[in-house]
Amino acid sequence: MTNFLTREHKTKILERDNFICQMCGKTVSNEIHILDDAYGTVDHIVQVSRKGTSKKENLATCCRKCNLKRGGRKSQDKIKFGCSADLDFIKNLIKYEKRYGILDEKLLAEKLIKYRNELLREMKAFNQIIHIMEEQHGEQTEFLCDNSSQC
Ligand SMILES: [Zn+2]
Repeated sequence: MTNFLTREHKTKILERDNFICQMCGKTVSNEIHILDDAYGTVDHIVQVSRKGTSKKENLATCCRKCNLKRGGRKSQDKIKFGCSADLDFIKNLIKYEKRYGILDEKLLAEKLIKYRNELLREMKAFNQIIHIMEEQHGEQTEFLCDNSSQC
């Protein structure tokens, strides 16, 4: 895979990140002037020079202002990520954290807690549906068992 990003590829990353700069949290846009601070760019979390890839989990939405700041720094490690709600993105950050120290732990903790709560809510809803099915059909719901839980 090359490190060249098509506009389509870039837009997918911006959409995944809800058009939010993953470094400062500000909203970005694809449709404004390229020299505007809020112009949406995509940055490599682990730089290409450090063998970072252009796979989506290594790409982050970044406003032009932060992108310039990051590019200009001697130590790029000072920039932290952690705003994305994308699980693959977060997993990639965790993978590289030890080597590069790129996580904003506070932001990430907030995200993970939010994530967990959403999953718990979904699980609760599933359990309710299963419970209703069990009540209506009794033993006929054996097909719902996945062998990992006691049912
Ligand atoms: Zn920014």
